[in-house]
Amino acid sequence: MEKPWFEVEHYIGGEFVGGGNGFDVRYPATNEVIGTAPEGKEAEVDAAVGAAQEAFGKWGRMGAGERRLMLKRFAEGIRARADELARVESWDVGRPIRENTHGYVLRVAANIEFFADFVVTHGSDAYPMDTGYINYVLHQPVGVAGLITPWNVPMMLSTWKIGPALAFGNTVVLKPAELTPIGAWKLAQIAHESGLPPGVFNVVQGFGPDSAGAYLTAHPDVDLISFTGETTTGKAIMKSATDTLKRVSAEMGGKGPNVIFADADVDKAVQTSLRSSFFNQGEFCLAGSRIMVQRPLYEEFLEKFAAAAKGLKPGDPFDESTSLGSLIGPEHLEKVEGFLNGRSPAFHSGAEVRLGGDRPDLGAPFDGGNYLNATIVADVKPEDRISQEEVFGPVATAMPFDEEDEAISLANGVSYGLSAVVQTRDLGRAVRVAGAIDAGTVWVNDFFVRDLRVPFGGMKSSGMGREGGVYSREFFTEAKTVCLSN
Ligand code: NAD
Repeated sequence: MEKPWFEVEHYIGGEFVGGGNGFDVRYPATNEVIGTAPEGKEAEVDAAVGAAQEAFGKWGRMGAGERRLMLKRFAEGIRARADELARVESWDVGRPIRENTHGYVLRVAANIEFFADFVVTHGSDAYPMDTGYINYVLHQPVGVAGLITPWNVPMMLSTWKIGPALAFGNTVVLKPAELTPIGAWKLAQIAHESGLPPGVFNVVQGFGPDSAGAYLTAHPDVDLISFTGETTTGKAIMKSATDTLKRVSAEMGGKGPNVIFADADVDKAVQTSLRSSFFNQGEFCLAGSRIMVQRPLYEEFLEKFAAAAKGLKPGDPFDESTSLGSLIGPEHLEKVEGFLNGRSPAFHSGAEVRLGGDRPDLGAPFDGGNYLNATIVADVKPEDRISQEEVFGPVATAMPFDEEDEAISLANGVSYGLSAVVQTRDLGRAVRVAGAIDAGTVWVNDFFVRDLRVPFGGMKSSGMGREGGVYSREFFTEAKTVCLSN
């Protein structure tokens, strides 16, 4: 694949703005520079928030049906450029192209379209009182929404916020992650071409602290912040947003348990665990890579799982046969390796690296990238650092358990609570365990399937608030009660 060059820009008030102080855009698979992006500071954030505020006057009062038509054109534009966007996501993230072409971009478009439809197909509550009064509820837009997104699944996560924010009548300033600025810029191009009015959707590129992210969070004219990223960043953002009393939704880290009972269909469990551990080379908040297997199945599962994971092929993201991409950058690769190597690996001495743990030999130019072979560490203990902290790389851990109650307490024995996988053929057990695990989403015998109507979010350190369907409406609108006298 010929190396492209991206001159990434901000998108402010309907205009593409480049120049100023910039930063390099790197391709994770080789670490080569493939473009530049401008760093937004106070001036750019101010301009974008000002444009969003001005546009809100009209956009917020516009009928939902009219907004729906415009957002549908935006979604159609995304679908029309699906091939290009699939490639962009691989240049941004280093994820294998084959993971982007099977529905990923369609989901990006659906995130916009779903909420555009939702607003016109859903009514609100009305309560006729015994006294003859009628109370009814209006869901009105809040104002300017600041959206702050991470680098791991950038287009999916940004549209997951852009869709409801705009459909419910807010205007938006998006601050994408500095490591993946291209996709947001492309989305802005499509929004522009689809005729979204100037100022309704703005993008300011830049970093977090002392940069676009922090200025957006602290800006007095931003009414709400929807953030996805690390738990420590979420805490900082919440503190900063408190001064200006913004509402904040925070989707943060995860450490998903994957509980496999002895009665599970072992081949299906292997396939599900492959995806839950290694999708997006494990850089996934929802990863179910903390595997616990009931003792009678433990060795058989591990053997089959290791054989299947060995078949994952790292390499050129644009090669259709590549099934394991590059990590986002050298520092992140070192952080992930830090769980495995060095003087103090993050597990006790009885644990064993059953697979991987090393970098693949890929030859030029991919030797310059940030690859790690699919890795499995078996026989870890619950208190090991690798069992407690988010690794965010292609590293699965495994430990045996005996009883159902023990599995539940192991699953819940971390500070996170975003998602979980339970694998069993016993329906009653599935219902019991899914109900008992601390997680915003539990998949039974599968992974990463979700209807856009259900709540998405985390418990404990994984998040505050829920988004999806009516839950997004709750966050992105002000609910107003009107009481009609008879
Ligand atoms: P990060 O927290 O480093 O950065 C996320 C975003 O916040 C970036 O745009 C960054 O520039 C910005 N930011 C950083 N510091 C800021 C500050 N002080 N003020 C304002 N903005 C700031 O996260 P990351 O490394 O990009 O992403 C990986 C993390 O995201 C992992 O922990 C992962 O679990 C989490 N994640 C969670 C979900 C979810 O749905 N819960 C989804 C994807 C990723």
